[in-house]
Amino acid sequence: QLDPSTLKAFENAAAGHDGVLSDPSGELIIKPCTGTEAEFYQQTLQDYPDFAALMPAFMGILQLGAPAQAADITAVNEFVENNQAQKDKQLHGSKIATESAIVLENLEHGFSKPNVLDLKLGARLYADGTAPEKAERLDKVASETTTGSLNFRIAGMKVWNGQSFDTYDKFYGRKFNADNVKDGFATFFSGLTTGLRKDEAAELLETIEAEVAKARNALERLESRMYSASILIVYEGDTAALENLMGGVPKTPRLQETAPTLGEVQQSEDEEEAEDEDEPPMAYQIKMIDFAHATWTPGHGKDENVIMGLKNIEKQMDLLITRLTG
Ligand code: ADP
Ligand code: MN
Repeated sequence: QLDPSTLKAFENAAAGHDGVLSDPSGELIIKPCTGTEAEFYQQTLQDYPDFAALMPAFMGILQLGAPAQAADITAVNEFVENNQAQKDKQLHGSKIATESAIVLENLEHGFSKPNVLDLKLGARLYADGTAPEKAERLDKVASETTTGSLNFRIAGMKVWNGQSFDTYDKFYGRKFNADNVKDGFATFFSGLTTGLRKDEAAELLETIEAEVAKARNALERLESRMYSASILIVYEGDTAALENLMGGVPKTPRLQETAPTLGEVQQSEDEEEAEDEDEPPMAYQIKMIDFAHATWTPGHGKDENVIMGLKNIEKQMDLLITRLTG
């Protein structure tokens, strides 16, 4: 059902490698991946369904270069080759076999102007067995950034300014320290804090914080090692659309399901059905992504490296809420 020749480059990533594709409808992204990541998605769906709910919906694996499809997937292969070349460079020559792509729910779909923040988790960003030069390089960046001090850093973001998206690359997030990284959060959430009534803004920030806490709580009960994974925060950057989502009857079922604080207004069943047919507008999406170096590790205890990062992100959200409400 997915015709590879129709795939186009996904232009709206907040961070990461080139080579991510999108389908014509924009509902899906197709991300070239390592065997580890494909396996992690499959295993999580099978064995950790509760955690799978905290990840983008996983539609399957697109095998690239299969002879029967060879004619159709040329475009895909080109992207994969570019991506592979970058990865090879990064690893100083060591090879990863990348012939597959994961097909995922596009977390930006359903938004008018999605603001996106990629927060890279952990103080240690590489798995056991990583080449020493790469490990040293990552440890050096960690020691110079909030990766080392707070177990997370801003890996990239894009923010709608009313006319266009302001993009913040990986070097932007590397400049912050533990004291001033709150300014990065303020910049990312400025559309929300300036566009909404104060109480509505605080409510939405609390809801987003609760989503981060949900991921942390899940990890506190599980045994995993996720190196260089991210939590991706998306919220509606179109102020009028966001105001509309927050004011009166909440329009998104997701908002009601996951955010009881966002109002007790009951949605009629008619409305709910009508919206199920169409794509409901969304106020936010918060999911864990990037599992190229993630594994389930029964018997090894919880992933403190990542849990500490999520805790510190929650603290940043608290700071922002306090600053807003006084
Ligand atoms: P890598 O960092 O290894 O290139 P990621 O999985 O972190 O790969 O993806 C890179 C970027 O692509 C992310 O920063 C994010 O902006 C975007 N992205 C990844 N997965 C999704 C998704 N399911 N929906 C929307 N955007 C995504
Ligand atoms: Mn990433």
